[in-house]
Amino acid sequence: MIGANDPHEGLLSRHEAVLPEWLALYYERPIELTHGEGRHVWDAEGNRYLDFFGGILTTMTAHALPEVTKAIAEQAARIVHSSTLYLNRPMIELAERVVALSGIPDARVFFTTSGTEANDTALLLATAHRRSNQVLAMRNSYHGRSFSTVGITGNSAWSPTSLSPLQTLYVHGGVRTRGPFAALPDQQFIEACVADLRDVLAQNRGGVAALIAEPVQGVGGFTSGPDGLFAAFREVLAAEGILWISDEVQTGWGRTGDHFWGWQAHDAAGPPDMLTFAKGIGNGMSIGGVVARAEVMNCLDVNSISTFGGSPVTMAAGLANLGYLLERDLQGNARRVGGLLIERLRAATAGLDLVREVRGRGLMIGVELVAPGTDEPCPPAASLALEAARRAGLLVGKGGGPGGSVLRIAPPLSLTVQEAEEGAALLAGALHEARAELA
Ligand code: PLP
Repeated sequence: MIGANDPHEGLLSRHEAVLPEWLALYYERPIELTHGEGRHVWDAEGNRYLDFFGGILTTMTAHALPEVTKAIAEQAARIVHSSTLYLNRPMIELAERVVALSGIPDARVFFTTSGTEANDTALLLATAHRRSNQVLAMRNSYHGRSFSTVGITGNSAWSPTSLSPLQTLYVHGGVRTRGPFAALPDQQFIEACVADLRDVLAQNRGGVAALIAEPVQGVGGFTSGPDGLFAAFREVLAAEGILWISDEVQTGWGRTGDHFWGWQAHDAAGPPDMLTFAKGIGNGMSIGGVVARAEVMNCLDVNSISTFGGSPVTMAAGLANLGYLLERDLQGNARRVGGLLIERLRAATAGLDLVREVRGRGLMIGVELVAPGTDEPCPPAASLALEAARRAGLLVGKGGGPGGSVLRIAPPLSLTVQEAEEGAALLAGALHEARAELA
């Protein structure tokens, strides 16, 4: 057992050289976390880090938020499990709030345990409802790691197999500053993407079940098309009865600052037919789900049980977390502090030839890196910056497209101005260090 004698003493600190090879490791030299508080986490060696990745966009409000941990403990003392066979009070209340917040008329919600499973469910519903296995996805998209969701990713870096139960057709629009339409002004960019969509549909007449799309691509490097893109897409899709699934796994719950959901940046279109969520709602507890119009959700009759979906403990966490974030207007905080953070990062990296672009919305900020003096992605620069940030006590996310050299910044939505200033300075220092190491 890890740290059996002292929960704050970790395996890595006791056995410096021994890495737990029985785990699939993500980092070469992993960080063993022991605890967190607010926007900070500590590792087994006693190092403190400012968490600019919010877990992995999962710690939405704050680490060890007393309101959430209390709700978890109280619920665990009553009943831990129910599955979706039975109801439980926090599940009923959370469902009611999510349905009301979704903006989807006559909506139903189905709880899962991850974003992958939520998207799988949405794809299952769409293909069953439309009696077709053809789906539209965006280039550079990411929707999860199951067979069907890796099968539709628009970037083969995230897909170990090209075999898929679905036939996927890819469209442009998720990346504004690269690709064939990058030089066009916003409106013309949208028109070019719509023309591309029409062209794809013309070649596959009649059968497409749904478009699944992230309003801001997450793993793809915190990149998006212009506001209004999905309004224009929706007009084309609706004319053929094709469903629009908005994957809000990263963009939901106010993360983008201006809007509660990512799709709302395209408001003229009205709500999507389905939205999927996960990550931040449980503040780290595993909650995912799909919201869909009743007629679509009702396709699930034959397959409507999730053993761990809607579990009372996770639902209690979600409910307390959602209540906290709405009462404290953390969406507004994400807008204000996120805006400031972007400004500070742009100022601190101006003139640094490693940084192509600092972009984002709310507390979803991407720093795209390039090989100095070129416009080419530079994954080694991202790795060097990530390590330098870690040494300085700052955790950020790495990777993603385009080309795998985007640093991703997504702190808990309660980030303070002081922490934003501190993190911007640390990251700028790390980027300068990475630049020097590359030379
Ligand atoms: N959809 C999006 C947009 C994501 O970013 C992710 C994960 O990063 C997923 C789905 C899959 O979620 P999970 O890792 O919870 O299965």
